[in-house]
Amino acid sequence: MTKIEDSTECSKCGSLIDTSKDTYSERVPCQKCGSISRSHMVHIVENLLAVDGYGAIGKRPGKKKPFVEEMSMPEYSYSKGKIVHKYRLIDRDNDKYAEKVSDYQSGEIIHQCEEPLTEHFGHGSAKHKIYKEKKYKIFDNHRLHSGPANGAGPVSRNVSVGIKEK
Ligand SMILES: [Zn+2]
Repeated sequence: MTKIEDSTECSKCGSLIDTSKDTYSERVPCQKCGSISRSHMVHIVENLLAVDGYGAIGKRPGKKKPFVEEMSMPEYSYSKGKIVHKYRLIDRDNDKYAEKVSDYQSGEIIHQCEEPLTEHFGHGSAKHKIYKEKKYKIFDNHRLHSGPANGAGPVSRNVSVGIKEK
């Protein structure tokens, strides 16, 4: 689910600007400082729903690390663009690591690996990302020059727009 929020603020003082009163050729100056220079804020939030699965951990008294960890749960696949099923087993007793990612609908195996646990640690396992946030700031130093006094002729515009990713 992607949510996009946007707002406009004064480039000079940062006050929120109500752009609904603008006309095509004229901007309503900032109520605080009178500037017509603006910054448009676009805020894109992508939320991924976390769905239940199961996770099991086996521990022995006095030991910090579980001797076995097993999980089976939905995970978002960026390459597939949808929720997929992920199974993972970490078996420290038997030095075994197993991972299987499959498609819920078709059962197709997207990724599978089984190897000694000691070897798997070299991979630098990918971080589980369920929240992604991007912020963009679009600078718009949009200066309006008034047209000829009689109102004839085009209104000249000098527009510079830049996008900066925070
Ligand atoms: Zn202002």
